[in-house]
Amino acid sequence: VRARVMQVEESPDVGYEDIGGLDDQLREVRETVELPMENPDIFDDVGIRPPSGVLLHGPPGTGKTMMAKAVAAQTDATFIKMAGSELVHKFIGEGAKLVRDLFQVARDHEPAVVFIDEIDAIASKRTDSKTSGDAEVQRTMMQLLSEMDGFDERGDIRIIAATNRFDMLDRAILRPGRFDRLIEVPKPNEEGRELIFEIHTRNMNVADDVDFARLAEETNELSGADVKAICTEAGMYAIRNDRTQVTMDDFRHARDKLQRDEPDGEVSKT
Ligand code: ATP
Repeated sequence: VRARVMQVEESPDVGYEDIGGLDDQLREVRETVELPMENPDIFDDVGIRPPSGVLLHGPPGTGKTMMAKAVAAQTDATFIKMAGSELVHKFIGEGAKLVRDLFQVARDHEPAVVFIDEIDAIASKRTDSKTSGDAEVQRTMMQLLSEMDGFDERGDIRIIAATNRFDMLDRAILRPGRFDRLIEVPKPNEEGRELIFEIHTRNMNVADDVDFARLAEETNELSGADVKAICTEAGMYAIRNDRTQVTMDDFRHARDKLQRDEPDGEVSKT
């Protein structure tokens, strides 16, 4: 069961240099997650406590998971991921047990970064909390909060949660001592998209006519995951045409295809 719902990576191979256009967000994540792990004394010297949990919120495919992995890699911490959606629709008591298991795995792997994706699945405001399914979800969340209360914030376990549905969240989880540091992770702007194109084409055989600034201009509203998908798809166009070099036309075809598949401009992530 554990293997299915929990993803454990001893040393994720994502670095800060792989993340495009999120400088401010990355600085905050580093300050709140990396610094307390690497230099806990600083917080004692100043006389403040580092934030307990960090909540990343923003649209899908904008690099939230990536940032959590990168900070784990940077601190040589084990990256442990669980999705909130895996914790619901379980038998009575199972969600809470999975949360306990999650923290046990984290303690066994210290230092560790625990990443809880889709936290809204267990922590959303609900209109009707009387149904038994909801009560079970509530118990799962209470277990999470009590695990968080239970450890010393100087410890080598840091918690990062993420959501695409910030407006749905139960405010109780945002109280001090819980997810008390909020970081908004927006879709990239034009400059960000250009950087993300450059990152995802690093290992590609790209023709001279490819202009990433131009492509960034032509991909308004797309996420980092969309940009990545365009790069891969552009490579597929080249292969289909018996070429090893990827041209500007290939990128434009790829962009058109993705926008056709998802007419509202939201392209699903890979
Ligand atoms: P979700 O909320 O859907 O889980 P997410 O915000 O966690 O999404 P990621 O899983 O981090 O998004 O991003 C998906 C993929 O998109 C990444 O593996 C990466 O390849 C690419 N990507 C997204 N944002 C960026 C970015 N800012 N820089 C570089 N690559 C990015």
